[in-house]
Amino acid sequence: MSVSILLVEDEEKLARFVELELCYEGYQVTKAFDGRSGLELAETGDYDLLLLDIMLPGLSGMEVLRRLRRSSSIPVIMLTARDSVEDKVSGLDSGADDYITKPFAIEELLARIRTALRKKSSETENTCLSALGLELDPERRAVSVIGTTVELTKREFDLLHFLLKNKGLVMSREALLEHVWDLDFDGGTNAVDVYIRYLRGKIDEVFDIKLIHTVRGVGYVIKDEE
Ligand code: CA
Repeated sequence: MSVSILLVEDEEKLARFVELELCYEGYQVTKAFDGRSGLELAETGDYDLLLLDIMLPGLSGMEVLRRLRRSSSIPVIMLTARDSVEDKVSGLDSGADDYITKPFAIEELLARIRTALRKKSSETENTCLSALGLELDPERRAVSVIGTTVELTKREFDLLHFLLKNKGLVMSREALLEHVWDLDFDGGTNAVDVYIRYLRGKIDEVFDIKLIHTVRGVGYVIKDEE
């Protein structure tokens, strides 16, 4: 899936140039030329990253950022013509992830974009997941239920992690096999049932909760309610 970038910049020539370079790198680019329409687009939540000029007609970049941050954690790189310390400080205070001073080399901008996107994706990858008092910490590969540690094998952990990431969605045995087992695994979908049984033995039965639900003929789902 391609990465989608919203570019809010009133200098049309510069916007066009940046758009071409980003498209060349495989990004999808949407442009807005003033603060108000930029904010409206950003609030749809359809973008992976926002490039935001500070000096904009309508609503300043700083104001766009301030309003956007009430509801969105999208990575934002500010574009500023002024190399003033004040701008940088207030930009970062208002929740910008980075800033770049105009004129900039396109390579520099591309590097900043990659960094901001990487930072964002590692944050979401490492977010702790929870359901019914169970907590899973992907970074420490630790699982606990109301503070009590649960010891899981690697496969059990990966299976639980995948189900939790998709909490509320029914996962078919085939989907679980594909994402949790190696592609060349040919042990059949029975393996999934076996590992679900292991997990229930270590979690549902020990803590007397109904975490993993069977959906007959379809697969398994973790829900937040029993
Ligand atoms: Ca401007």
